[in-house]
Amino acid sequence: MKNERLIEVQNLKKYFNVDNSNIFKDEKKLKAVDGISFDINKGETFGLVGESGSGKSTTGLLMLRLLNPTSGSVYLEGKDIFKYSKAKFRHLRKDLQIIFQDASWALDPKMIIEDILSEPLKIHNIVPRFEREKEVKRLLNIVGLSSKDMKKFPHEFSGGERQRIGIAKAISTKPKFILCDEPVSALDVSIQSKILNLLRDLQSEYDLTYLFIAHGLNVVRHVSDRVGVMYLGRLMEVGDVHTIYNNPKHPYTEALISAFPHTDPEIESKRIILKGEIPSPINPPLGCVFHTRCPKKMDICEKLVPKLTEVDKDHKSACFLDERVIENSKGGEGIENK
Ligand code: ADP
Ligand code: MG
Repeated sequence: MKNERLIEVQNLKKYFNVDNSNIFKDEKKLKAVDGISFDINKGETFGLVGESGSGKSTTGLLMLRLLNPTSGSVYLEGKDIFKYSKAKFRHLRKDLQIIFQDASWALDPKMIIEDILSEPLKIHNIVPRFEREKEVKRLLNIVGLSSKDMKKFPHEFSGGERQRIGIAKAISTKPKFILCDEPVSALDVSIQSKILNLLRDLQSEYDLTYLFIAHGLNVVRHVSDRVGVMYLGRLMEVGDVHTIYNNPKHPYTEALISAFPHTDPEIESKRIILKGEIPSPINPPLGCVFHTRCPKKMDICEKLVPKLTEVDKDHKSACFLDERVIENSKGGEGIENK
């Protein structure tokens, strides 16, 4: 059953201070994540998509408490992870793991694989000392590598194999939650599906919960149960993957879906191609942050900040094209846009 909640993100914000080197002006804030809320259920994959710079990685890092938020909460099994003391949180670290786009981030180039994989086993006391070697071999086998590989250094492997080692390291502590931040974006297409299959097999075997980050919907669509669409620090739409893909409510989601070419000329002719770049999160547009690029922009979009609003069962949208979003957003953030 995938309806037991593992993680709840509530009104999470991360503003970075940016030095504009002007002593006469106030310090500027870069709004990387600007008030997002969503839940992830046990055993599911939640896909987080949006163009580069939308705030996806910052969201992921906050969820692992690798960054501290400006405000807001992240609940893991009902407890706010930011409320633990540092010492207490150290015990929780093993429950929250990460797989990077480039596995080299997780693999010390000067260490052999045996030592790399033994380290988390030792720190978190996962298996007794005399069983560590056996466990390293088991981990390597699980991710499709040979136990003989443990005497090698990271540079002796291909990109796909290094990603497998990164995955072995992530699952070594028997985590509850794994942040997969663009885990296949740097790999050849032929290898991507193998890594995705491995992640899927490990998920069912070990009852893992994933946050899967990618910039497009094409990969996320195949691996996710639910999806959140992010733009300029905010969530535009959240819902079940089939609903998001077949019945999107937000023009930004429509644009992401139509970003990959179709063979059907009729669909192809309706393709929405977004013009320009994502605006700077230092000076985000007032009202709906997407309005400057939205093909369906209305007057209200410049004036009121749309709230993510339930529009269907397990489907939330933050676009004023749905009347309920207008109703729900009234009295909220106005034209001054903080
Ligand atoms: P994504 O993963 O969607 O590409 P990020 O979360 O990496 O987006 O970044 C969101 C915004 O926050 C970007 O404008 C990025 O430049 C900025 N940002 C990320 N990390 C920092 C940081 N440590 N200091 C200042 N700005 C940052
Ligand atoms: Mg990123």
